[in-house]
Amino acid sequence: MTKHVYSVAIDGPAGAGKSTIARCAAKELGFVYMDTGAIYRTVAYAAIRGGVNLGDPQAVSDFLPGISVLPQWDRNGEQHMILNGTDVSGEIRSPEVSQMASVVAAIPSVRSFLLDTQRSVACEYSVIMDGRDIGTVVLPNADVKIFLTASAQIRAKRRWLELQQKNAPDTYEQVLEEMIRRDQRDMEREIAPLRCAEDAVLLDTSDLSLEDSISAVVSLVREVISE
Ligand code: C5P
Repeated sequence: MTKHVYSVAIDGPAGAGKSTIARCAAKELGFVYMDTGAIYRTVAYAAIRGGVNLGDPQAVSDFLPGISVLPQWDRNGEQHMILNGTDVSGEIRSPEVSQMASVVAAIPSVRSFLLDTQRSVACEYSVIMDGRDIGTVVLPNADVKIFLTASAQIRAKRRWLELQQKNAPDTYEQVLEEMIRRDQRDMEREIAPLRCAEDAVLLDTSDLSLEDSISAVVSLVREVISE
């Protein structure tokens, strides 16, 4: 009997290429692509804008019932983040929000607040979901689990080149330092830390082109689908 929906979990550190690879692979496979980092970013952005002290977990928890955080997909399959009815997809990409997202992501109430949003998408659609705890916590029964990584230097260089294209002033050293700080926070937190699930395939993209990385993910998924 063939299944109605499939789920693919892609986890890994910042800058490993998860979102680009997952987005392209999802397009090729006809799956929905869900970027779960964007929902943590949206909570962080809302809290910053609301003047909440992000160093105070209780203050962040008290703030959550008053906000609505919804992912929406447009006709091209692009995910938008809707905060209290407003599209904030552009606003959540700043370096400040990147750092603060990993601060709020370590708060247990934030993680449980966002869990249903993630699981309900996987119940309804075949999905490639990327994040830090998808294979370990959000979708422990995912059909395919991939841990995508690359050396810190290569990840920082890719991110720095991206920022250069947007004329951002950040130096390579700054990008590397911030990335290492964020990864450390994500790996060392008590709840749902970034780690490779036992049953995940490890894919190191340090020496792979983007096209080869996408093909590797698509092949892994096709193998399972055709079983
Ligand atoms: O993937 P992205 O860099 O947009 O994620 C921003 C932050 O959100 C991460 O550094 C991490 O702290 C948090 N996050 C998480 N769990 C996920 C996805 C993202 O804790 N599944």
